[in-house]
Amino acid sequence: MMGASGLVMQAMKTQIIAALAATFAFLAPVAAIADNHADEHGEDAPRWSIAIHGGAGTLSPDNMTPERRAEYEAALQVALDAGAQVLKNGGTAMEAVQAAILPMEDSELFNAGRGAVFTWEGENELDASIMDGRDRSAGAVTGVTTVRNPILLADKVRTESPHVFLMGEGAEQFAVKQGFDVTPPEYFYTQRRMESLERMKAEALSSLDVDHKFGTVGAVALDSQGNLAAGTSTGGMTGKRWGRIGDAPVIGAGTYADNRSCAVSATGWGEYFIRVGVAQEICTRLRMTLYREAYASGGDLNDQHRAWMREQGVVQKAADAVMAEVKELGGDGGVILVTPDGDALFSFNTTGMYRGRATSDGVNEVAIFGGEEGSGTGNTPDH
Ligand code: ASP
Repeated sequence: MMGASGLVMQAMKTQIIAALAATFAFLAPVAAIADNHADEHGEDAPRWSIAIHGGAGTLSPDNMTPERRAEYEAALQVALDAGAQVLKNGGTAMEAVQAAILPMEDSELFNAGRGAVFTWEGENELDASIMDGRDRSAGAVTGVTTVRNPILLADKVRTESPHVFLMGEGAEQFAVKQGFDVTPPEYFYTQRRMESLERMKAEALSSLDVDHKFGTVGAVALDSQGNLAAGTSTGGMTGKRWGRIGDAPVIGAGTYADNRSCAVSATGWGEYFIRVGVAQEICTRLRMTLYREAYASGGDLNDQHRAWMREQGVVQKAADAVMAEVKELGGDGGVILVTPDGDALFSFNTTGMYRGRATSDGVNEVAIFGGEEGSGTGNTPDH
């Protein structure tokens, strides 16, 4: 016979078992989902991936000749292939980002290096930044006028100086010390960019009116060691003055890389990207979402949580949400990003963005206008 205390114990046991059963019933579907996706994360995730951009803006097939379009697509393909080749050969994400940006800096088509826009005073002031997701080391330069490839100088700031951000003459002195050639200003003179400046002045237009697009270049990459990197390079905005600096060289705004979350490079109306802190904001949202998911399921962060994140499309949603904030404030532009899982995504709120992506899974595509990707994912043009 069971005494009174025995009955109480029995009742308690029953309650505990019921509570545990309820808990497991709640957890079971989550565990099942996680199991399904563990494979997806492990075997199927791309080993390396890269995304590039050459600026965003009001781009439509109607205001671009087929020849011009082909020219841009070919230039994007050259940049994409240069970066992808590095990754295919087992090179680092940092090397791939620079390899992809260099041909775009050397091309007249993009607003970076050779094709940089003019300031109000008729000069070319270049900005660039780069970040290594392994240790979050970063380098950036702004207002540089004598350096042919500012992305290389930004990387030297990262590796050969105790600083992150150098400006103007000081940055140029540092470049000379690092063995960079002094590039004469004529190198950066292009007729097309000068006409934009002249038109802007003559018709009292804004930079957006004369360019209709931004044209900054950038690259983000994941290498086969699982490391991320991001870089961005630009001439800024036509007719800029008073030492104006946009987001491109600002770590956290135009560029960010962190192995724990993602690598981002931005292009667009820099003032808004700085205010939103676009690149870092996207990475932070992803990191916090992952931690929250791990915490909610009561375990340490692991591949299952990352698989859940992929399944839910969290990365695209985070990028779109941050770009929506830019738009809410009145700005426009776009971002490219890659994650440790090999996703290579775009998000832009302009009608087009010069862009491309390649992965070890065989994806290799360049595009200019909204909605061109075959998969139908990865960009969200909304006007
Ligand atoms: N974000 C750059 C800036 O504001 C412009 C661009 O993306 O082309 O300087």
